[in-house]
Amino acid sequence: MFKVILKSIGSNRLKVMSLISRTLGISLANAKRLALTDFAEVAYGEPAAIAKALKEFTELGADVDYDYWPEGMSTDHWADELSNDGFHCKLCGGKLFFSIPGKTPGAECAQFNKMAKYPMSGGFGVFCPDCGNAITKYFGDPNLV
Ligand SMILES: [Zn+2]
Repeated sequence: MFKVILKSIGSNRLKVMSLISRTLGISLANAKRLALTDFAEVAYGEPAAIAKALKEFTELGADVDYDYWPEGMSTDHWADELSNDGFHCKLCGGKLFFSIPGKTPGAECAQFNKMAKYPMSGGFGVFCPDCGNAITKYFGDPNLV
């Protein structure tokens, strides 16, 4: 899941506030309040919805960007196929490493790859350092929609 971040509202302030109101399903008053905060998060969703929101905000002259929205992703079941307890590899007992977009710092991934017998086979997912057992995740890309 992704989020759209409002960097600058531009000159069509009312139209942008109205779009925020519609996109998030909040009142215009709350949308106005949100639009005045720094780096307001003005849309959430899957890549297709984010691509649409980016286009709409940009067409109104707003400066927007997007990023992963880790709070919107449930990682509860990521390790189900690899583990019985959610933390350890069921093949070898190794401690599983979770690489979560927007949450796991790149430095932690680099450290994992340095220490692991089996480095990560993809950017995001769950990885066993000791036997290479892994589940990789792909979240799509709003730029490719
Ligand atoms: Zn393992």
